[in-house]
Amino acid sequence: MNDAPEWLAGAWYLVWMAALPALLLVENAAPRQRSHPRPWRRWSGNLALAAGFWWLGRETLLLGAAASAFWLGAEPPGLLTWMSLPAVIALPIALLLLDLVEYAIHWAYHHNPLLWRLHRLHHSDPHVDLTTTLRQHPLVVFVDVPARLLIWTALGIPPLAVLIYQPVSLAVHLFSHVNWQLPVAVERWLRRILVTPDFHVVHHSPERIETDSNYGSVLPWWDYLFGTAQLRDAAHCRALAPGLEEFRDEDDLWLHRLLLQPWRRTRPQTERVGRSMRTPEK
Ligand SMILES: [Zn+2]
Repeated sequence: MNDAPEWLAGAWYLVWMAALPALLLVENAAPRQRSHPRPWRRWSGNLALAAGFWWLGRETLLLGAAASAFWLGAEPPGLLTWMSLPAVIALPIALLLLDLVEYAIHWAYHHNPLLWRLHRLHHSDPHVDLTTTLRQHPLVVFVDVPARLLIWTALGIPPLAVLIYQPVSLAVHLFSHVNWQLPVAVERWLRRILVTPDFHVVHHSPERIETDSNYGSVLPWWDYLFGTAQLRDAAHCRALAPGLEEFRDEDDLWLHRLLLQPWRRTRPQTERVGRSMRTPEK
């Protein structure tokens, strides 16, 4: 097991080499929605943000911290370490906890007004596709990394679990943002166990009740468990107009406007005040 980071890195490199072109292919072969009328302006802004996000290195920092802890044989002092469970039980529990932490952090981004100002850049994309995945404000890194490291340490998450979970989570994020119309029967079955493109696109709806739902990262189970799931049929997902009403101007796609967006004042409905209401699932 001591060489786990090496074989994990090799396995994930192969998965990524195959997954990215495959996702691009299905996005163009079976799109759920037509492309945005200004695709190049939109893509250039999104890809520049993605590059900034990578440059600051959220994944590199998180995986680097986990790999260093693994090589040093360090055990985080938190809950799971204290319980000293056998590895075969601790690892699946840790993987579930990691996904629950993602759900909780995402929920916080929607319910804390300051965090929402950072996160709403992701939601203001007027179209959802592969490039939306990393349309994140660079400042998000300074919240994401310390928050995760603190919570993971408190929970005593083994570094190996992080090394497995992070690439899976990123792959599912890419998959769930793909502009892809899955066959209805497949999507209905799959959304019981995985966050699918239709499950996630509801989260990109401008309707507050839908924006504040479907927070899941890899597993949709937390949304089902905590009552934040909003299930919609394929026709609804095809017809919804992703984005936020406050940022529909085509000039909002330029990079400088994207970077300054957290400081832009908007009408109260896109500020996070109060709790969202829930409606029955369809
Ligand atoms: Zn969100």
